[in-house]
Amino acid sequence: MGLKGTKIASIFGMTCPRCQESKLFEDSNPYNFSKIFDMPERCDKCGQKFEVEPGFYYGAMYVSYGISIAYLVSVFVAMLVLYPEFTTTEYLVIGISTLLLLTPVFFRVARVVWINFFVNFDPKAIEKWSEQKKA
Ligand SMILES: [Zn+2]
Repeated sequence: MGLKGTKIASIFGMTCPRCQESKLFEDSNPYNFSKIFDMPERCDKCGQKFEVEPGFYYGAMYVSYGISIAYLVSVFVAMLVLYPEFTTTEYLVIGISTLLLLTPVFFRVARVVWINFFVNFDPKAIEKWSEQKKA
């Protein structure tokens, strides 16, 4: 695919935003709750730090909030169109329970989106890192 080097590739692949070679999370399954927060300290291919600064991922909460609202609005519109007989309470029960089920996925997507705001793709990142290690 021609997506290498784009933010989309990093976000959907959950890969390092700088080299897009290594995974951002230690376990690719977001429902493995014992490892949900576990990220390598830095990328083993290009050396990019994943915790860019202390508390870096607090900002991902804003992204997570945006994703959750967008999800609830989508569910609401879909139910309005497909099942107009549903009540507001039924909508809330379905919307919020599915949102809770999807929270681990949204949590990770929010982190990937957040780090992609600040770290750009660098096609020479891996070369630079291996030279830096030699020096
Ligand atoms: Zn990398």
